[in-house]
Amino acid sequence: MTDQAVSIGDGQPNLFAITQAQLDAAAEVLQLDPALHAVLREPMREMHVTLPVRMDDGSIKVFKGYRVQYNDSRGPTKGGLRFHPKETIDTIRALAAWMTWKCAVVDIPLGGGKGGVACNPKEMSQGELERVSRAYIRAVGRILGPDVDVPAPDMYTNPQVMAWMVDEYSILQGHNEFGVITGKPLALGGSKLRSDATARGGMYCIRAAAKVLGLDTQNATMAIQGFGNAGQYAAILGQKMLGATIVAISDSQGAIYDPDGINPYRAIEHKQKTGSVKDFTITGARPISNADLLELDVDILAPAALENVITAANAGHIKARIVAELANGPTTPDADAILYANGIYVIPDFLCNSGGVITSYFEMVQNAYSYYWDEQTVDARLDAKITPAFHAVHNRAQELGVNNRIAAYCVAVERVAEAVRLRGWA
Ligand code: NAD
Repeated sequence: MTDQAVSIGDGQPNLFAITQAQLDAAAEVLQLDPALHAVLREPMREMHVTLPVRMDDGSIKVFKGYRVQYNDSRGPTKGGLRFHPKETIDTIRALAAWMTWKCAVVDIPLGGGKGGVACNPKEMSQGELERVSRAYIRAVGRILGPDVDVPAPDMYTNPQVMAWMVDEYSILQGHNEFGVITGKPLALGGSKLRSDATARGGMYCIRAAAKVLGLDTQNATMAIQGFGNAGQYAAILGQKMLGATIVAISDSQGAIYDPDGINPYRAIEHKQKTGSVKDFTITGARPISNADLLELDVDILAPAALENVITAANAGHIKARIVAELANGPTTPDADAILYANGIYVIPDFLCNSGGVITSYFEMVQNAYSYYWDEQTVDARLDAKITPAFHAVHNRAQELGVNNRIAAYCVAVERVAEAVRLRGWA
């Protein structure tokens, strides 16, 4: 498969075509039964809804919403909700597929789902955002439930949006149903450590990768693309958990580089004040481009922003020893082959960023028992889930002589395929 083969024609790769092509590659390695392969290539269920919402000026605006339940053979579907003006059903299908493989690769008893509303939260008031959130739940609530499908925050949605949604769902049910959504505020049944869980899980993966590569993270340098939820916590925890020096960070407006290290807390403060890290140069950092950041000579590169940023055009210039994919889909298929050929160790997205869904699963368990864990318990259980998953993928890659992404697919697809087969679906 090449980047061109999965392009949607305007040069932008179609993410769902990429997920299907990645599955095809794993199916070939696994010699997967064609009927099972066919079942796993398509989403199990999709709901498309139209949401009429009253805006603050009294007008009615109509929004399109989606929920995709990709595969629930191993348990209720699980996956975030995105509020994005350019939301497309293919992006949501792709992300729902990745959630299926993500839950399977870390062996939690959940399937994969994803949803979203095409809207621009940056142009909406809090009241409008609340009405869109509630309208979405009224429209798709009939296919959600703690044992059916459990959403969570994703791009441009947050714990407050989850709070409105869990409230709306609870009103529809006539009783509190906290387990229907994760990523909730602590006061409404959220889990401790949920907010930094994606980056924290990524750090456990990097720690394990460094061990197999013989890299001392205490002396390692790290560059992070994207300075939002995943990127900011990656900077803090990269320093705290790994002892790494954060030498470069970026956001949509620009990047900065300081070989002596950037203080993540001060950078966050600066971004909160000015809206960007791009001119946080007071401590000696210098501005660089986002493209330069990816090509820095660092030990660890963590893409934590967008999809399709490491492509055939720049993969050959990447110098990092470890690429830790906190973002979903940052590397195109052509780039994957180049990184592998160059001996760059990629921790694939649906393993590297699975800390979020693992902790969401812990949140569901805590909601079901109405019994809440302390930080140490959540942290230890996250480590106990993600570190063995990393080693399962690493070992499979070594055994099969394939890259880590195909190995992660093999581990995950085998588990989902077994459940599908045992249930008699194929
Ligand atoms: P976010 O919206 O909080 O942050 C995104 C960051 O990327 C922002 O700082 C933005 O300025 C920056 N950005 C946008 N365009 C950029 C560009 N061209 N170059 C550099 N930076 C750019 O989002 P997030 O929650 O941190 O998610 C980031 C990625 O991680 C996404 O791919 C998401 O799917 C993935 N992810 C996040 C979580 C989570 O728990 N937050 C879980 C799993 C996967």
